[in-house]
Amino acid sequence: MKFSTLLIPTSKETPGDASLASHIYLLRGGFIDSVGDSGLYNFLPLGKKVLDKIRFVVKEELDRAGCQEVALSFVTPESLWRESGRLEKYGRELLRFKDRKENNFVLGPTHEEMMVNLIRRTVKSYKQLPLHLYQINLKFRDEIRPRFGLMRGREFLMKDGYSFHVNREDMQREFAHMEETYKTIFTRLGVDFRVVEADSGAIGGTGSKEFMVLADSGEDTIVICESCEYGANIEAAVAEPKVYDEGVTYISVKMKAHYDEGKSKVIAFVLPEGAELQEVKACKAVGANDLSVSDESAQAPIVVIEQSLGAAVDPHDFDAKEIFYEDISSVKEGDRCVHCGGVLRYTKGIEVGHIFQLGTRYSEALGCHFLDENGKSVPMVMGTYGIGVSRLLAAIIEQNHDERGCIWTRECAPFIVQIIVANMKDEAQKAWGEKLYYEMREKGIEVLFDDRTKRFGSKMRDYELIGIPYAVVMGKNLPEGKVEFITREGMVKEEVGIEDLSLFVEKRVLS
Ligand SMILES: [Zn+2]
Repeated sequence: MKFSTLLIPTSKETPGDASLASHIYLLRGGFIDSVGDSGLYNFLPLGKKVLDKIRFVVKEELDRAGCQEVALSFVTPESLWRESGRLEKYGRELLRFKDRKENNFVLGPTHEEMMVNLIRRTVKSYKQLPLHLYQINLKFRDEIRPRFGLMRGREFLMKDGYSFHVNREDMQREFAHMEETYKTIFTRLGVDFRVVEADSGAIGGTGSKEFMVLADSGEDTIVICESCEYGANIEAAVAEPKVYDEGVTYISVKMKAHYDEGKSKVIAFVLPEGAELQEVKACKAVGANDLSVSDESAQAPIVVIEQSLGAAVDPHDFDAKEIFYEDISSVKEGDRCVHCGGVLRYTKGIEVGHIFQLGTRYSEALGCHFLDENGKSVPMVMGTYGIGVSRLLAAIIEQNHDERGCIWTRECAPFIVQIIVANMKDEAQKAWGEKLYYEMREKGIEVLFDDRTKRFGSKMRDYELIGIPYAVVMGKNLPEGKVEFITREGMVKEEVGIEDLSLFVEKRVLS
């Protein structure tokens, strides 16, 4: 396509509220346009092209894996949310409204209820299972503080999939199948990622895994093994247990654990000196919703001892009604991997995918049953699988950019090569540019032709900002039969003879 005809409003100005590279470059590069300060974005032609490319890869791999695409209504009846019990739980993040007949509706931030409602009406027998349906459509979450551009917007494009099974084993088979499918998807998209365990789970594999694009700006701290594939969220990470001898010094951290309906208990957590309490693990250990520091001076009636302290502490030291042993400490850098003994270290990631063994939580609440082989009515066992499609645009740029702008991966780039005519008034430059443009189009190579009458310097700045993988510059060496071929990553420049140009470009961009 010709640059001069496209809506690409590039800008030199860094938007005031933007701090992340992806937020800055996607706005400045004219990929997206912010709708006021509302956490809402318009996708302009370049942004829409990238979005479609990501969507294409996701769809192709899911279809290949046997999933079926559907499109459920974005507007969802409030009654379904009431039925599942999530109307309360989501609270004000659900955007609610009434229609002209005073019926209540919600803009869906996720679609478990809608999907279960569809399946309970259409699937009756074990013979119709398993079934895996997915959609790629808009979601809305009324975030209290939308920020970081597409990373945490209020409206977002999401791929959400839901599978339905006759039993847990079959759901776990699909879960493993989806883990492999997701790996294929993220590998094709060209991102450096890790699969991490999102909860510490029970023996026999965990029920929840996240796919993290590795980037220094990531919001999540993850623990990864230097020697094997092990990775986990900091709150789910486990390390090889240390062995403590009797006489080890330990500390006791007194916390207030909060439960539903405003109830709370004071609990003492006992850790080896130097260890840190992992609050999510600690919450889980005592079944609480939240913890806060307690200034209670009395002895806590409940004591939770870090399990690795095991026999090294004497439970009689604590005058407590109940004593538990649990994994409640944070994994530290340098700890050893439980799988291979390798060294664990911290890194940062951006969550772009999540697969989850859901079980019967929604099928029971919403009465989604099937008749098994013996004619007995049983709730379906479910799995759910998400990919943040619009968030991926931001994640790719967080991982792939430099101080000049975006560096798109090949599979996601809006175009694969850009032709830049340095001076449109120079007839030879213009003619060779057009010749290459039509040749590339003929070969089915996606090409952007910068045919604008702007100054060369400003065209180059736009090229660097937009970040198309390759460029050809028709410039001052054309009379000697030479043009410049640029690889955006590292801005590597090569001189190429004009006679071999078409073949050279074709080889490089298709290799
Ligand atoms: Zn390991």
